Amino acid sequence: MPMELILGAINKTTNKYDNLKFASKQYKYKCVSCGIDITYRDGAKNFPCFVHKRTGCLYYKNPTIQQLKKDSMMLLQSVIEKNKIQLYKKCSRCNVDCEIFIPDYQNNYSVVLDYNFIHNGQNITVDIAYLDGNNKILCLFNILTNNDLDRETDYEPCYNIQAGELFLMPIWKNDKLQLYSDKQVICNNCN
Ligand SMILES: [Zn+2]
Ligand SMILES: [Zn+2]
Repeated sequence: MPMELILGAINKTTNKYDNLKFASKQYKYKCVSCGIDITYRDGAKNFPCFVHKRTGCLYYKNPTIQQLKKDSMMLLQSVIEKNKIQLYKKCSRCNVDCEIFIPDYQNNYSVVLDYNFIHNGQNITVDIAYLDGNNKILCLFNILTNNDLDRETDYEPCYNIQAGELFLMPIWKNDKLQLYSDKQVICNNCN
């Protein structure tokens, strides 16, 4: 599957990232990386995709790991802002999916990328922070790529998501993105 099928673009009307899932012919788009205008194509014969002129920018052809990670972070940010995320942990005994509660996004909430905070006197950076109207942390996310070692955290709630779940084979159910945190739990039935 070529990468242009899955990476997102900047919507020129809202100036926000749109994943292909939410892209529409009614908007104009620009490349996340170089900012050049790109075309959204969705015809009877084509799978939906973003088409980038040949300029040397390889964002949609051969993105770097850093670009994939950034795209994943923006996708996660956008699905939180649209209330289109469903997060699960697996039960380590019976393998059943246990849904993790994520508060609904409100107008005064924010989703911040590369978020810094102090924890036990240490300066910590996480990939994504979901904050309420008082900038209180609701939950934190790190996106793991193949280059990352598991990021152990002692602050909660913080969920590690494999980047591939966002750009390789995202699973959409009822318009919501289904994601799994790498932390496992023991479900109520097994407890
Ligand atoms: Zn570009
Ligand atoms: Zn179980």
